[in-house]
Amino acid sequence: MKLALYNDFNLGVIKGDRIFEIGSVINWDSSDPQNSLLDLMENYNRIKSQIEEAITFSESKMVSEVKLNPPVPKPSKIVAAPVNYYLHQDEMNEQFKNAEYTIENLGFFLKAPSSIIGPNDKIKLPFPDRRTDHEAELAFVVGKRAKDVLASEAADYIFGYFALMDITVRGKEDRPWRKSFDTFTPIGPWIVTSDEIVDPNNLAFKLWVNGEERQSANTKDLIYDCYKFFEVASSIMTLEPGDILTTGTPEGVGPITKDDEVRITIDRIGEFSVSVDYKKEEIKNG
Ligand code: MN
Repeated sequence: MKLALYNDFNLGVIKGDRIFEIGSVINWDSSDPQNSLLDLMENYNRIKSQIEEAITFSESKMVSEVKLNPPVPKPSKIVAAPVNYYLHQDEMNEQFKNAEYTIENLGFFLKAPSSIIGPNDKIKLPFPDRRTDHEAELAFVVGKRAKDVLASEAADYIFGYFALMDITVRGKEDRPWRKSFDTFTPIGPWIVTSDEIVDPNNLAFKLWVNGEERQSANTKDLIYDCYKFFEVASSIMTLEPGDILTTGTPEGVGPITKDDEVRITIDRIGEFSVSVDYKKEEIKNG
């Protein structure tokens, strides 16, 4: 099932190019979408057939006519994998001489949840004069509380998958600084529940800037795949329902600038594109 939030955090299900309003059949509270999502995930197996039935009589709109919101609006944390593809390690070494380690030595880092934006929002660059890159990533949302979960059990704890852009200022500051600016984590276009993703560790994905292909990879080349990354993260800290884990970017990262259009697509999930602006212009104009 493809679960989308739209038009001020209503809940919808995507079928083809239409979105069906289903919040009203499951007591969805659009003023508290993160907690409503937690309720939905906790009760999903019980209410799944109810939702599917509701699609037959619910009102629907064209997806293109609604504003999509971030499908996981306020996680308690975003756990992110650094240097989790060897070819990305190579390009970072070539360009910055600063990636001698991979995820095996680096562990992981946290991004601020406040950096999340939706698939119809804008990235706002804080420093026009500093290189700021796109990173295309497969991400997922934790479905139930997890601590010390082995890779072999991790699939049971993952509720669903979506696309994530890990926007990053290049430089010497720590990763959380460089990756946590407001608007630096576009996610979307919706959550595809785990039952529809046969193997998350074999998904092709791409990213374009202004129609030019920049990244093209497959999650089968992850150093730590989704489940291993889950094991490592949950060995350190409790993963709460609604938390986001993002698996890291492959090769092909590159700069974005004002007026760029950045598009990401992942097989079996979907695609979205966000535009880019400078942050200072907003302050100037507003
Ligand atoms: Mn990243």
